[in-house]
Amino acid sequence: MREYNIAAIPADGIGPEVIAAGLQALSVLERRMGTFRLRVQEFPWGSDYYKQHGVMMPADGLDTLKAFDAIYFGAVGAPDVPDHVTLWGLRLPICQGFDQYANVRPTKILPGVTSPLAGVGPGDLDWVIVRENSEGEYAGHGGRAHKGLPEEVATEVAIFTRVGVTRIMRYAFRLAQARPRKFLTVVTKSNAQRFGMVMWDEIAAEVAKEFPDVTWDKMLVDAMTMRMVLKPQSLDTIVATNLHADILSDLAAALAGSLGVAPTGNVDPERRYPSMFEPIHGSAFDIAGKGIANPVATFWTAAQMLEHLGEPDAATRLMAAVERVTAAGVLTPDLGGRATTREVTEAVCDAIHSANV
Ligand code: NAD
Ligand code: MN
Repeated sequence: MREYNIAAIPADGIGPEVIAAGLQALSVLERRMGTFRLRVQEFPWGSDYYKQHGVMMPADGLDTLKAFDAIYFGAVGAPDVPDHVTLWGLRLPICQGFDQYANVRPTKILPGVTSPLAGVGPGDLDWVIVRENSEGEYAGHGGRAHKGLPEEVATEVAIFTRVGVTRIMRYAFRLAQARPRKFLTVVTKSNAQRFGMVMWDEIAAEVAKEFPDVTWDKMLVDAMTMRMVLKPQSLDTIVATNLHADILSDLAAALAGSLGVAPTGNVDPERRYPSMFEPIHGSAFDIAGKGIANPVATFWTAAQMLEHLGEPDAATRLMAAVERVTAAGVLTPDLGGRATTREVTEAVCDAIHSANV
C-alpha cells in the first residue's frame, strides 16, 4: 500500500476546526479507497505556541517538516499577536524555506453556491490562478530615508529574475496544457512598469514556443479585473505576479461565492521539498469556536494535496463528494446556509462512502 507522511499544522482561530474536519474526511476517504495510507502528525505551532515559547515554531521546525511528503496547514493570526509575527514566523518561512514558488489557486462556482455575478453559474467560471510565490513585489526590498521628516522617501522594490519568471511561466503553461481548454492568460502591467513587466511579456512569448498546443493571451491587470467580472467564461488558466495574483485571487474567491470555499497549494514543482496545502482564508477569529466555519476550502485543498501526491482518483472522489453536498444545499452561513461545520463534514463523509465517481 502506498504511504504518505503528512504534517498537519492547524494553528490559530478556525484553523484547528477546519483541519479537524479535513482530517476526518481524509480518513474516511482512505478507508473507502483502500489503496493508500496517510500517516498524519500534528504540530501545535502557532500563536498559542508563540505565547508560551516566544516563537511560532521551534528553530529546527523546517528540518522537522523536510521529512514529510506534504504539509496540511490551517491558518495563522490571533487578536493579541501582531500579524507580521504570525505571518513571518510560520507561514512565510515554510513557503520560502521550501522554495514553494508556485501558488496555485483553483476557483470555480460549486453547484448550489450563488455567485454575486447575476446570471453566472457553475461552468461559467472555472479558473486556476497561478501566483508567483517567491519574488516580485513581496521580495522585501526597499527602504525609507529621512523617516518622519517632510522630505521622507520610501521605496518598494519589486524583484524579477529571469530564472524566477521562466520557471513560473513554464509551470503555468504546463498546467494550462493539462486542462481541457489549453488556454492561458498572462497578466502584467507592462504599459506602465517597463522593466520587470516587459521581461514577463518577453519570457511568456519565449516559453509559449515550448507549448505550441496552448493558446494564450496577455492582459493588463486593471483590465483583467473587468474581464473577470464581465466575461468570466473567457478565462481558464491565469498567471500573474505575487502582488497582482494576490489581489486577483481575492476577487476570484468573492466571485465564486465565499472565501470559505477558496483553496490554495504552495507548490515546489521540482519536489525537492514538501509542498503546503491550505485554505486561503485566515483564522477568522470573529467566528472561531462557534462551529460554523466553512470546511469546504480545507476539503478542496486536501484534494489538491492528493493530486500532488499522485492520488488523482482519491482527489476526484473527494471533490465529487463536496459538490454533491453543496448541490444538496448543505451550506454554512457564509454561503447563506444554516449548516454547522460538523453537519457539512458528516455529509461529505457520507458522500465519500456512497458517491459513484
Ligand atoms: P479572514 O480570512 O480570517 O476572515 C475574513 C472574513 O471571512 C471574516 O468575516 C471571516 O469570518 C470570514 N471567513 C473566513 N474564512 C471563513 C470560513 N472558512 N468560513 C466562514 N467564514 C469565513 O481574514 P481577516 O479577518 O482579515 O484576518 C483574521 C486573521 O487571519 C488575521 O490575523 C490575519 O492576519 C490572518 N490571516 C491569515 C491568513 C493565513 O493564515 N493564510 C490569511 C489571511 C489572514
Ligand atoms: Mn491575499
